[in-house]
Order: sequence, then C-alpha cells, then structure tokens
Amino acid sequence: MKRSRVHIKDYTIGWVCALPIELAAAQEILDKEHSDLQQDRNDTNLYTLGRIGEHNVVIACLPTGQTGTNSATSVAAQIRSKFVSIQFGLIVGIGGGVPSVKSKLRLGNVVISQPYIQHGGVVQYDLGKTRAGGYFTRTGSLNTPPTVLLSALSKLQSNHHRGRSSISTYLSSIYRLPKFLRNGAGSDILFKSTYNHIEGPTCDRCSRDRAVARAVRKVTVHYGTIASGNQVIKDRDRISSELSGILCFKMEAAGLINSFPCLVVQAICDYADSHKNKRWQPYAAATAAACAKELLSVIPSAKVAETSTMRSSKDTTGAQIKNTSENKGNFANQAGQQITQGDVTINQRVFQCSTY
Ligand SMILES: [Zn+2]
Repeated sequence: MKRSRVHIKDYTIGWVCALPIELAAAQEILDKEHSDLQQDRNDTNLYTLGRIGEHNVVIACLPTGQTGTNSATSVAAQIRSKFVSIQFGLIVGIGGGVPSVKSKLRLGNVVISQPYIQHGGVVQYDLGKTRAGGYFTRTGSLNTPPTVLLSALSKLQSNHHRGRSSISTYLSSIYRLPKFLRNGAGSDILFKSTYNHIEGPTCDRCSRDRAVARAVRKVTVHYGTIASGNQVIKDRDRISSELSGILCFKMEAAGLINSFPCLVVQAICDYADSHKNKRWQPYAAATAAACAKELLSVIPSAKVAETSTMRSSKDTTGAQIKNTSENKGNFANQAGQQITQGDVTINQRVFQCSTY
C-alpha cells in the first residue's frame, strides 16, 4: 500500500481498538495508509493513520494487556490532545453477545450502540450501589453520541432497508488474509445457558445435545444497548435482565464514551458464557471493521467539518458519569423488528421505557 503524508490537522475521525486483531482488521479496511507522524515524547499511543472514503482517520489500539475502562480513557485523552481536529470517534472491535429469542444474535453479527431516552447506547453495568437484600441499583448513565453520528445511523439503516449495503464488498478486501475468513471460525454453536463448558481449549468435548437449535443467518446489523464495565461477567442473562435487555458486552466502551464522543461498533465473537474461546475473533473483527467503514461512508466530510470538535464539545468535558436521580428510573424494554435485504439483515430494536 503506497503511503502519503497528511497534515495532523486534517485528521477528523478517531478509531479506537482494544486488541491487536481488531487493529489488524482496521488497518486492512483503510482505503489508503498514510505515513507515520513524529512521535511525541509524552504520547504513549502508537497511531495508524489513513483514509476511508472522504475521511482522514486516526487509529489507536490499547496497550497489550491493558484492557479496561481506565486504559481506554487514557488512549482517548491522548488522541484528543494530539489531533485537534478530531470530531468524533468510533470504538470498533469484538465483544461477547447476549443471545435471545428477540435479538437472534449470531457470531459475526454486528451491534451498533443506539441511544434511547436517557440511555446513550452504552450502559455501565458495574456502576451503582448494592442495597439491602443484595439488590443492585445502577446510578449513572453515559453520554449520548453526537448528532452527526445519530444522523448517520438513520441513513445507514435507511440504506439497509433499501437493500444497499457494502459490508460484503468491504469484507472481501480483508479476506486477502485467510485468517479473517468466515470458514476459519468453525461452527456457531450456542449452548443452553444452564450447560457449562467441559474443560479444554475448544468445545470439542461439549455435548451437542445441549446446543440450542438455531437457523444459520447471514451478517446481521443490530442496534441497541451495549453493556460495559470492569467486573467479570458472571451471569450474562441476569445482567441483561436487570438492564431490560442488552445486545452485547464491551469492557472498554464506558471508559471512552464520556471523554470521546462516539459510537460503539462491535461484532459478536462469543456468547459471554463459559464456552467462549477465540476462534471467532478474527472474522468478527473483520465484520466490525467493515460495518464501521460503511457507517463512515454515509457521512460526507463537509458534514463532519460543520460539527464541533471534541475539544470544543461541551458534552465531552464533564465528569465520567452523570449521577442524577432521574437516571435511576427508566431503562429500556425492547421489541424487535427485523428486515433482510440481500446479504445484510437489519435488526431494528425499538425501545420502550420501564422502571427498574
Ligand atoms: Zn464448551
């Protein structure tokens, strides 16, 4: 790939990954890779610079082994400090899915965080107070993405309703590397939630009799709530139930969302249960990167220039969490509406309020 040099002020999109396999997929999805800039002494991020469509994009990955919300916050702060024209960000990668009858999630499917009422699209599941009887009450909410990204979500969904999607095309460019091929991931098996993994690196010893019977589905894009936090997920379905339905988990998202106005684009690499392993990670990383590229493709560069930068955006300079009493009240219930067009299925989740 021929590299060119672009001025630091011309970069307007931040793209954050947590894992090297996510970074590799992001690098492969670039239309053009730019030359590196001189490294600042106090900047511990290492950037990949490039172009996607009309946008100059800064890609940064969390340091190896330093996953979690604090590491993510630090990476975002350094991007904001160095790239003064950044308008918004995307958190792109892989996460554990929460399968349900309504969501019909499959491995390799993509989830995009979508706000509803006081939800910003991402909920921190481990922030709150434990009350008498062990009842846990969440006490904060995370920022809503900037309007330009929400407009982009509308247009993206509209395009999908019309059968227009480039995800398969974008995926084909990553497939030059066999590691990312769907065929390398193996079978998509969801075991019943009461059936624990039989010890071993894969599920070869687990009983297929305990698998949930499901139809094979193509790449699907879902819109809804993503749960984030630092605590180990011990009971996927209980957390989802307490939050009135979530689509997936992404540990680092809560660390970025309030300091880095952004959307989360996550592909499902496991089902956040005892059976999880890494076999689906490369393919899932590829589908997430392809979907993020398609999201950027519906945002004209002029539209980006009209929005405020992250530095000047009022809603990005506040505290990490808004601890307000009104945030305790309503969380989302969900009802699903699903449309299949060509190679891409759209799972549009419509949210309604309930009190918890
Ligand atoms: Zn297993």
